[in-house]
Amino acid sequence: MTRLPLAVNGGPPVRDSLLPYGRQQVTDDDVAEVEKVLRSDFLTTGPKVGEFEDALAKAVGANHAVVVSSGTAALHALMAGIGIGPGDEVIVPAITFAATANAVLYCGGTPVFADVSPDTLLIDPVTVASAVTDGTKAILAVDFAGQSADYEALRDLTRGKDIRVLADACHALGGARMGHAVGTLADASTFSFHPVKHVAAGEGGAIVTNDPDLDQSFRTFRNHGITTNHLQRASKGTWSYDMSELGFNYRLSDIHSALGLSQLKRLGENVRRRQAIASRYDNAFETLPGIAPLQNLEGNSNAYHLYVIRLDLNTLTVDRGGVFAALRSENIGVNVHYAPVPWHSYYRNLGYEPGGWPVAERIYEEILSLPIFPAMSDEDASDVITAVDKVLTAYRR
Ligand SMILES: *Cc1c(COP(=O)(O)O)cnc(C)c1O
Repeated sequence: MTRLPLAVNGGPPVRDSLLPYGRQQVTDDDVAEVEKVLRSDFLTTGPKVGEFEDALAKAVGANHAVVVSSGTAALHALMAGIGIGPGDEVIVPAITFAATANAVLYCGGTPVFADVSPDTLLIDPVTVASAVTDGTKAILAVDFAGQSADYEALRDLTRGKDIRVLADACHALGGARMGHAVGTLADASTFSFHPVKHVAAGEGGAIVTNDPDLDQSFRTFRNHGITTNHLQRASKGTWSYDMSELGFNYRLSDIHSALGLSQLKRLGENVRRRQAIASRYDNAFETLPGIAPLQNLEGNSNAYHLYVIRLDLNTLTVDRGGVFAALRSENIGVNVHYAPVPWHSYYRNLGYEPGGWPVAERIYEEILSLPIFPAMSDEDASDVITAVDKVLTAYRR
């Protein structure tokens, strides 16, 4: 390809309007479902909450699903539900959204960051093994970008020990590993219904599990630590309730549940669309020097919340920041997911020091997330490919 003038240098951009990295799709059916709730008796905890939970449990093949007000609330409920407290350690990957590790702190526990594998950015079982101590209560893996962590390897590490294997599956709803749906691979798995995720409810989250005791503890935790909700009290004709522990108001409303339930119906279709866009990118980038997409582990069906590329910086005259700025100028809404969590000033103030996660810290400098969402057209995907080619060609050594 010839070198075209980059938009960042005043040339014409590949697109006239910005293509975001992710965006929700809300249909007329979604709007109609929400409107019905707005005209009904219940705005919060009514029939839609349970319907959404039943549909979600069925969609992933888990016995129980508990919906809450965000993915972060789901992680908090999960840490509280397994009894994390001061002195307890939970192993999490160094590259994830901060909420994964923050949930451990909410409960007074200690996040222990494990390094990631360079080709996938999934938690690396080898570094997990060396992070396990007598204080380890759980491994909270992240299904980064939409593919599952190696849960078999993580389970092997916990054999004979009282350590839970848990999934922050906020990127991976609709994915699978070895033919088993995401949501059934760990002792419990969390999801987010933020608009950029696979099911948009505005805000919202869920925990799915086959463990009936965990299910009950999540239900109590999301409702102030009170053991019955108002619907159950009303049906028994009683006013009395007991608050048996300190919980939160992490309930999801019927308004949000109706939107989530309606969106969930398109999950399969939307994941297939994300996979189709990803394979267009894979094909185009196979022959383009200077970049490599993250690889998929054998047996994984990737739900592609993100499409992450690694830049081969040795072949380029600029760093990742230069490529980022040039693509933004071409109106391609690239992003970076994520800086290592222990680098954040809050974590540094807790005593975490850069340098402990050599793979995560090196690969972080090379990664970019390209736009991927079901409502993207094939032309949008072609624009991304054209812009990546244009920018890398201009900056090639
Ligand atoms: C989105 C996300 C969360 C948090 O979800 P919210 O609904 O925004 O609170 C947690 N972990 C990961 C990996 C996420 O991507």
